Amino acid sequence: MSRIRGRDTLPEIIVRKALHAKGWRFRVCDKRFAGRPDVVIPKAKTIIDIRGCFWHRHGCKESTMPKSNVAFWTEKWSKNVRRDIRNEESWEREGWNRIIVWECALAPKKREHILERISDKVAAWADEVAAQVVRRKPHRLELPAKPR
Ligand SMILES: [Zn+2]
Repeated sequence: MSRIRGRDTLPEIIVRKALHAKGWRFRVCDKRFAGRPDVVIPKAKTIIDIRGCFWHRHGCKESTMPKSNVAFWTEKWSKNVRRDIRNEESWEREGWNRIIVWECALAPKKREHILERISDKVAAWADEVAAQVVRRKPHRLELPAKPR
């Protein structure tokens, strides 16, 4: 976990392989969008962002608190979280659906189910794009939702 916005991390590869197997065409780390989201599927007007639970503070048990330099980490994380929010707002303004996939959702036991859900959503949203459905707000799905 040396990089915050690494390319080709294992969770990203897992998601990309599953999408590819379903026949979806996508762009990777697309510079045209704020924050260079991991996966962009134009046909479904959908952005998929895969987030590390520790760096992006999912709030699950992977989001541990280091024992030292707490102020440093807290500041660093709040920057990451603010950036994630800004990026999402930008995608939403441009009318793009989004799926936020937290790393913990891709644990081996849950993975298959989660990848199915992602693929089903992308298919449903691609149907909407094809049918030129006009939405007031794009879709947003988070897997799993942040614990409250
Ligand atoms: Zn998590």
